[in-house]
Amino acid sequence: MVAELAQDVAIPTGMRHAAGLERYASVMRERFTRLGATWEVVAGDPAPGWLREGPAQAVVAPPMYVARKTHPRPAAKILLCGHIDTVHDPAGSFRELTIAADGRMATGPGCADMKGGLLVALFALEALAACGVTVEWTFAVISDEETGTFHADQALRALAQRCVGEGYQAGLVFEPALPDGSLVVERPGSGQFMIECAGRAAHVGRDFTKGISAVQALAEAIGSAGQIADPAQGLILSIGPLEGGQATNIVPDRARAWGNVRCFSPGAQAHATERLRGLERNHHTLPSTRVELLFNRPAKPMTAGVERLAMLARECQGMLHAHAGAKSGELAFAKTGGVCDGNNIQAATDNRLAVIDTLGVRGGGLHTLDEWVELDSLVERAQLTALLIERIAAGGLEGSAT
Ligand SMILES: [Zn+2]
Repeated sequence: MVAELAQDVAIPTGMRHAAGLERYASVMRERFTRLGATWEVVAGDPAPGWLREGPAQAVVAPPMYVARKTHPRPAAKILLCGHIDTVHDPAGSFRELTIAADGRMATGPGCADMKGGLLVALFALEALAACGVTVEWTFAVISDEETGTFHADQALRALAQRCVGEGYQAGLVFEPALPDGSLVVERPGSGQFMIECAGRAAHVGRDFTKGISAVQALAEAIGSAGQIADPAQGLILSIGPLEGGQATNIVPDRARAWGNVRCFSPGAQAHATERLRGLERNHHTLPSTRVELLFNRPAKPMTAGVERLAMLARECQGMLHAHAGAKSGELAFAKTGGVCDGNNIQAATDNRLAVIDTLGVRGGGLHTLDEWVELDSLVERAQLTALLIERIAAGGLEGSAT
């Protein structure tokens, strides 16, 4: 697994880096087809033009790939999901898997988030096939998770709904576990927004009084938007980056700010939406303020189904520990402010498909040049995933656990 991880990490996928993404996808296709799966390429949709990454996203809308292995009489039907993009610059200095002297840790771009997780999933499926466990599975391979899954959003929703219609029992996503191995069982919803102000340009020296500053209007809107955040009530709101004006001797006629809002409850989301929309001003006079807002990742609550699935995973971890004679504690559950494709899958099915989304490797330093993976966790998490699917096939989600 370590050797394969080193090869995968050395493929520079980055964000919307088409050449690297295609190369890595073809490696994935080869592995999936070796398992007897079909491989489908689903074209990506364009992302909204007002997003910060708008122009680049409009040029390249990477596809979603779907690997599917059907079975005439499956004992379990599982939807799996992982992303092949990373946040790291393909041309940057951080490009390889470097294994520490003690052989326990390694650093590398995407080693934890989530090339390691993709290997965990693949090795688990290979082990199940080798053991003759009759699982039907669909694997969604996402190319744009790190930029919000705007391109694959519709395709992923449709796929999740189709799976639920076909009686799929669980969704498993291979984002990295928390550093202590905890499973994340609850996530907020996340939205992107843009505040755009329009004014009137004028020469600062000659016509100052004719000018209307869009930057001034934006500053006031930002002041109000900043007051919406209420972390104690489960409402996080951050503003940045900003853009406004062309030169210091021109009164700026256009200014924009982008931001991210995260809400742990539907009430918080409704409140944030109302307050952000309330910043809109003066459509017929200047300065004017326009707000764009899109909740691209709905909240992922801890449902009864999620709890059952997480408890089964905990039971599996206990079995693996007992087998290894380990004395370590039970699999812990946690709640984070992070979001991922697990949010979208569960929401697309109105919470009917329970999803756990941190079955990947133990690691940390995510999205930094110190991203690391604990190498032992590759095998541990693959065993956990394989056993979890085997237990689902044995009826572990029906009634009382075995
Ligand atoms: Zn990730």
